[in-house]
Amino acid sequence: MTAAQPGSSLPGSSLPGPELPGPIDPPTRLLMGPGPVSAYPSVLRAMSAPLVGQYDPFMTASMTETQELYRQVWGTANEATMLVDGTSRAGIEAAIVSLVRPGERVLVPVFGRFGLLLAEIAERAMAEVHTIEVPWGQVVPVSTIDEAIRRVRPTLLALVQGDTSTTMNQPLDEVGALCAQHGVLFYSDATASLGGNPFEADAWGLDAATAGLQKCLGGPSGSAPITLSERAVEVVRSRKRVEAGIREPDDPEASDYVRSNYFDLGMILDYWGPRRLNHHTEATSMLYAARECARVILAEGRDAVVERHRLAGDAMLAGVRGLGLEVFGDVAHKMHNVVAVEIPEGVPGDAARAAMLTDFGIEIGTSFGPLHGRVWRIGTMGYNAREDAVLTTLAALEAVLRRFGRAVPPGGGTEAAADVFRGA
Ligand SMILES: *Cc1c(COP(=O)(O)O)cnc(C)c1O
Repeated sequence: MTAAQPGSSLPGSSLPGPELPGPIDPPTRLLMGPGPVSAYPSVLRAMSAPLVGQYDPFMTASMTETQELYRQVWGTANEATMLVDGTSRAGIEAAIVSLVRPGERVLVPVFGRFGLLLAEIAERAMAEVHTIEVPWGQVVPVSTIDEAIRRVRPTLLALVQGDTSTTMNQPLDEVGALCAQHGVLFYSDATASLGGNPFEADAWGLDAATAGLQKCLGGPSGSAPITLSERAVEVVRSRKRVEAGIREPDDPEASDYVRSNYFDLGMILDYWGPRRLNHHTEATSMLYAARECARVILAEGRDAVVERHRLAGDAMLAGVRGLGLEVFGDVAHKMHNVVAVEIPEGVPGDAARAAMLTDFGIEIGTSFGPLHGRVWRIGTMGYNAREDAVLTTLAALEAVLRRFGRAVPPGGGTEAAADVFRGA
């Protein structure tokens, strides 16, 4: 039993003091899974900064600064660059429900779990959804996307950039031109990849892109950066506004208004724009976090941070191979920030992961769908795309593998990884 905490016997509390849990006191963990990952310390400090009111000049100035910081992170001049409050899928839902009218066609190339999520969200938005699929562990050839655009003639192409379920990083650089040629809006979910792999919203012709903080941006989940091209803003603005109450279901215009208030990008734009029309209450502490994630990245240099992820990812890849393990998927198209490691014959995958956590305080990831029980996913992202985090994880993995009866080359992981960091 722990000592009663101050405040545990507040007047009016019906619980006796000792039955109240103490203040939150999480264990120290090194989060080396596919996300969420350990946040940059300065992001956690930013989140404990005092709150100000919704229209305090400091708050609106911080929002404006955050927009400018994320323009640089996304590689865009888009005025419509802001945050959607909620986890990454809040950004995904906002983009899809606001850009697509019921009955319009959406094309989703699927190369992992998150493509299926985009398709599901588009279904819920009452779109006519068309998918094309490649086996897990591969990316979708641009020629396949081109052929499907010509056949389906969609309003929107929704394409994941980095899919953590397979670790693949879909090339986007040629897709924007295809979309522009056919008048298709081009949306990408860059949640897993932004900050750790190149992303150029303007140069690649993106109309919409969304992310979250808990991967390479190095923050907690709960805020979704989004950017919209002028063409996307026009589409959002062309949706009917629900001003005179909800329409009758047989009103021909009823299908034209965005069915969600929270995710109506027209309203979110008006809130972030010069008019600052009241919508939701911006999540102040998450705004501070999102601002600090971008600030930390830009202070180090956007390209330097991508290069740090490349180096840490290459080192982790060399390290697991140095332990004699196989890697899943087309490694030439692997994201910098996550590797899928085949669980060796005879090693119980979940028990080994549990030993990493309980004995070493290190979290690595399990996997989903066809890969469940077959691979672990090990991430090197955000704050943890660092040499000491990579070497510590490999040393622990070596010990755990040996404990479960797998013969591994002593020091094989850490030496191979250290060589990569030394440029050997
Ligand atoms: C991790 C991830 C998400 C996460 O969505 P949340 O709502 O933040 O859980 C979304 N998309 C992709 C591609 C991801 O890798």
